[in-house]
Amino acid sequence: MQELDEKSRQYLLNSIRDINDFPKPKVVFKDITTLLNNKVAFNMLLDHLSSRYNNKNIDFIAGIESRGFIFGGALCARLGIGFIPIRKPGKLPYMTISQKYSLEYGVDEIEIHVDAFSGIDKARVLLIDDLIATGGTAKASVDLIKQAGGNCIEACFLIDLINLGGSRDLKKIVNVYSVLEV
Ligand code: AMP
Repeated sequence: MQELDEKSRQYLLNSIRDINDFPKPKVVFKDITTLLNNKVAFNMLLDHLSSRYNNKNIDFIAGIESRGFIFGGALCARLGIGFIPIRKPGKLPYMTISQKYSLEYGVDEIEIHVDAFSGIDKARVLLIDDLIATGGTAKASVDLIKQAGGNCIEACFLIDLINLGGSRDLKKIVNVYSVLEV
């Protein structure tokens, strides 16, 4: 596996911009569109992730809506494996399993198709999203993967907002890998 050297890590970090007070006051939104439209940064990230995951016998990548679709889909194409979307309620057309999770104020929900991993017993699944904050979305996603019969072998994030403690909690139930800790 090819480790990410400090220069590359810094380059990736600099390719992401902070947007203050988006989508609401006091939130610093990590805008990854400036990494996506930078071909050097996007390829550097995909080279790194494909080298990390290409010998791990992964059957599927499950990506969390919506930025997890971009990284997950691109990595699937590199690894030659299938992609599973984890979506907001009412978006997936076939029968679904859903999981509610708590937000700071209120509750949210995500869904997966019941037959997402059909055909492969205990499919080895990599979960991917752009960012982990409180970890609520990721934990609900790991639960969904289990309920659908998959075996989540790792949860991978481009950015980990470590002060919010989400990855620390998630590590209690699954391996976690974050490319950049902020
Ligand atoms: P959480 O469930 O709190 O870990 O939130 C993770 C989800 O919310 C991910 O899908 C992120 O894309 C999004 N998210 C949360 N906080 C931020 C932030 N500061 N910048 C960009 N995306 C965020």
